[in-house]
Amino acid sequence: MLRRTAKGAAVQKHTNFPAFSEIAPTAPIARESHGWRAKCLQRLVRLEIPVPRSVALSFSAVRAIAAGQPVDARAILSPFGPAPLISVRPSSEDPDWGGPGTILNIGMNDARHAALVESHGAEAATTLYLRFVQAYATHVARLDPDAFAADKPSAEALQAALATYEAEMEEPFPQDPAEQLTGVLGSMARAWEGTTARLLRQAKGAPADAGLGLVVQQMALGIGRGQCGSGVIQFVDPVTGQPQVTGRYLGQSQGRDALADPEAAIYLTRDPRGLSLEEVAPEIFADLIRFGEACRHRLREEMQIEFTVDSGALHVLDAVKVARSSRAAVRIAVALAQDGIISHDEAVLRVEPRALSELLHPQVDPRAPRDRFARGIAASPGAAQGRIVFSSTAAQACAARGEPCILVRRETAPEDIRGMHAAAGVLTERGGITSHAAVIARGLGLPCVVGASDITLNARDKLLKTTDGRSFREGDLITVDGTRGEALVGAAEMLEPALDDAFRALLHWADAARDIGIRANADTPADATTARMFAAEGIGLCRTEHMFFEEGRLTVMREMIFADSAKDRAAALDRLLPMQREDFVRLFEIMAGLPVCIRLFDPPLHEFLPHSREGMRELAEALDKPLSDVTRRVEALSEFNPMLGMRGVRLGITVPEIYEMQARAIFEATIEVGRKGETVVPEIMIPLVSAKREVEMVKTRIDAVAAAVRTEVGLGFDYRLGVMVETPRAALRAGEIAQHSAFLSFGTNDLTQMTYGLSRDDAGRFMNAYVQQGVFPEDPFHVLDVEGVGELLMMGVERGRKVRPNLTLSICGEHAGNPESIAFCRSAGFDYVSCSPFRVPVARLAAAHLALKERRQDR
Ligand code: PEP
Ligand code: MG
Repeated sequence: MLRRTAKGAAVQKHTNFPAFSEIAPTAPIARESHGWRAKCLQRLVRLEIPVPRSVALSFSAVRAIAAGQPVDARAILSPFGPAPLISVRPSSEDPDWGGPGTILNIGMNDARHAALVESHGAEAATTLYLRFVQAYATHVARLDPDAFAADKPSAEALQAALATYEAEMEEPFPQDPAEQLTGVLGSMARAWEGTTARLLRQAKGAPADAGLGLVVQQMALGIGRGQCGSGVIQFVDPVTGQPQVTGRYLGQSQGRDALADPEAAIYLTRDPRGLSLEEVAPEIFADLIRFGEACRHRLREEMQIEFTVDSGALHVLDAVKVARSSRAAVRIAVALAQDGIISHDEAVLRVEPRALSELLHPQVDPRAPRDRFARGIAASPGAAQGRIVFSSTAAQACAARGEPCILVRRETAPEDIRGMHAAAGVLTERGGITSHAAVIARGLGLPCVVGASDITLNARDKLLKTTDGRSFREGDLITVDGTRGEALVGAAEMLEPALDDAFRALLHWADAARDIGIRANADTPADATTARMFAAEGIGLCRTEHMFFEEGRLTVMREMIFADSAKDRAAALDRLLPMQREDFVRLFEIMAGLPVCIRLFDPPLHEFLPHSREGMRELAEALDKPLSDVTRRVEALSEFNPMLGMRGVRLGITVPEIYEMQARAIFEATIEVGRKGETVVPEIMIPLVSAKREVEMVKTRIDAVAAAVRTEVGLGFDYRLGVMVETPRAALRAGEIAQHSAFLSFGTNDLTQMTYGLSRDDAGRFMNAYVQQGVFPEDPFHVLDVEGVGELLMMGVERGRKVRPNLTLSICGEHAGNPESIAFCRSAGFDYVSCSPFRVPVARLAAAHLALKERRQDR
């Protein structure tokens, strides 16, 4: 039974059939119940843009259809008159979640064909009917598409298609539009429920129960007499986001034909390369520009408009958000805000934080020589270098060792997601722009090339061969250029990303909205410079051991380790002191008064010793000692579980001179930059603490060094001493540890390792199996384990703050850059998160999203 609303919309009521509503200005249509397309069409109708009559089926209606509930197709068809000719389009809640393809020309049958021959000519009528038979046979009846392929539409091709259908299905092609529509709705509803469609949309963030709406729309034919055709127009460049009219128009065509056949299609604006719609049909072109403006201002978005011209009349069939690169997403959001169409906060919320990393990735320098060995589809921009790995397990093992790698696969499958997370870039032999590898890599902001058909993989022998006769093995260094779709031999020369005004404006607005601090983990002047470039609010973790691996320092370090007496050790440390002081001066200068948190020496000493016989011989020579002495010392220092052994504060307690030297270097650097006018209050952090007494002992010594330096120099300075909470015991005893600490920084890498009893270095070996079997929901080294490690964090926070309410709290493990971890830390009352410099922009935007969404909810 149909009821008419005041504005004439048909709304079905009181039947057992799935419900539908005509898309009219006041119809009860919402994105959450009918999908974005239905809602968008309603907005276009409200703007008085000429949209053909349309009817929307809700998620629940489509769900019922998929479950086999009968459809009242006649009622759905009733708004379209006695001889309906319609299309059905998918309408999910988010356009990115995809959906089954649109089906056009439903209602074509022998009678309609005969009538159209009269009104539109035989060629047009045959084209329309044949297209529908092809679509129905392949998508609804699921027959082989090849059996229905035709070079060009002709009466013979149509008869052949109808005959093939009848032979295969043992019944004639359905003539009743209601029966046709029932078949189309059923097949689209079931396609949405299929496993592949489900996996693909879930990879894009759709919830497991995401619904599909359907839009049934009157056909505007685009084929026939007079000016007929179809096209697509958009008003910004999808790659840069700059204003620019782009698109194509193709006479005598339907749907998105103009994009499928760019050779035959004409341009929209005047173009020296050929004819344009602006010249052929200036009024239609002017209307399109007007509609584009209306969409931008009233829909508050850059839209791509799909239009059809039917005997000279313009119809807008659809408008979708312009598909855009991350760079364009930022530019578009910022331009809309600067034009006063959306607020700054809205612009911030329109850009997905993780998408920013795509803008930040280095690119291959176009001026540098390139030794290309494969070419494919540029699936995800940016360039990355690394060693070839052929499996996700190998990628995870590489990541655990801190080595960048390129995951090379024939194609990827959902179980490769963890490997892709671990890789710096991805290269696949097969696949297209929407293949799994491409979709996931874009989501992760990972440079990716797919469909590189000039390579052949032999995963068993770990060999990659190219058509030009070259071969590569696992471990070989390559570069993936996801911007150009190429794979290059070796490490190509790279360019740092260009960060434009729109990027800066957006992050500036994000900073105004967020309420948790963002610092960077930075060990070197280069890291610190990047951190400043991305407006980190300080350094949250400087891993000082990274400063000792440099050429020239390693030998002095080794002398210190080999020293037999306190005097010899002091002599070696005296040589290291000025080097460390210079390191800190540079960091303080670059950070220009922002806080710098320096972690005292952490790794086991044997990491600094040679492992090969050759290396030991060289060291014996440098130290002027017998080889046997060196070998004995190396053996004595090696441990079964070095990550749980003599590292961190344990080293600070047993070889206290190292921390004393570092403290002195920090204080002397503080004074040196102070003399140049920069006041620094350095933060000194003690790693791997598990007992209050450790903190007391180190603190006593550092205080003594500070007092000595003050006396020697005759100048005062302040510093803050804090503790890294990396052992479960430190979290449990945070109350007493906080008595001596100005701050606690949670090192969730070690804390995860120790909470699980899981080695950071070896977990990759079985993590895939664990996650695939659902033992762990995610790799806890990637995604913070909120339940277990998170509970320890909460205990540490509560116990620490109870003793010292103004205790500064932060997190500096790898998790700190993840939007989910930031959400956790923010709600736990942390002051800041500290992540690697390139993740700072993502963290700034993610933190702003959290604050803005919370404020919206409160409202
Ligand atoms: C940690 O353990 O989380 C941490 C930041 O320290 P590192 O990774 O250097 O052990
Ligand atoms: Mg650690």
